Amino acid sequence: MTTGARLLIVGPPGSGKGTQAQFIADRYGVPAISTGDIFRANIKNETPLGLEVKAITARGEYVPDEITNRIVADRLAEADAANGFLLDGYPRTTGQVAFLDELLAASGARLDAVIQLEAETDEVVSRLLKRAVEQGRSDDSEEVIRHRLDVYASETAPLLSLFGERGLLVAVDGLGAIDDVTARISEGLAERGIRAAE
Ligand code: ADP
Repeated sequence: MTTGARLLIVGPPGSGKGTQAQFIADRYGVPAISTGDIFRANIKNETPLGLEVKAITARGEYVPDEITNRIVADRLAEADAANGFLLDGYPRTTGQVAFLDELLAASGARLDAVIQLEAETDEVVSRLLKRAVEQGRSDDSEEVIRHRLDVYASETAPLLSLFGERGLLVAVDGLGAIDDVTARISEGLAERGIRAAE
C-alpha cells in the first residue's frame, strides 16, 4: 500500500483554508475534502441533508457532530481517499477529533500533519465581507461572520493545542499572496518529511 499524506487544515473563517486546501491537495496528490463545500452542495441541491443543515449553517452555528461525522466517514470511505486526504474544516470540535481518531485507527492509519493557517481577526473580517459581495454566501453577513469567528474561537481554536501536543502542527502565516502562503505550507510540510507527489 502506498502512503499518501493524511492532512488537516485548520484556521478561522476567512483565513484562506479552502483556497490553500485545493493547491496543497493537488501538490500532494490527495483529494481536498471540505465539509463546508459538502454542506453547501447539499443545500443547493435541496437534498434531505441540505434541508437539515440549511438554517444551521446560515446562522453560523456548527452542524451537530453526528451529522458531520457521518458525512466525513462516508467520504473517507471512497476510493480516492484510501491513501491520503486533506480535510478542510474538519474536525472542528473535540467530539469530531475523537471520531476521526477512531475512524483512522480502525484502518491502521494516522494523521501526518495539521496545517494551522493563521490570520488576524480584522483581516479575516474584511476578506469575508469582500467575499460576501462577490459570492453572496448566506453566512457572510457581518453579524454571522462575527458569530462564526466566536464559535471558531471557543470550539475549534482549543483543538490546536491538542494537535500541538501530538507534534502534528505546522503553523503558517496566512497573510500575503496566495502563492507565497502555498510555498510556506509546502516548506513546513517538507520539514516534517512530507513531500509533494512527483
Ligand atoms: P468557514 O470556515 O469560512 O466558516 P466552511 O465552508 O468551512 O466556512 O463552513 C461553513 C459552515 O458549514 C460552518 O459555519 C458550519 O455551519 C458548517 N460546517 C462546516 N464544517 C463543519 C464541521 N466540521 N462541523 C460542524 N459544522 C461544520
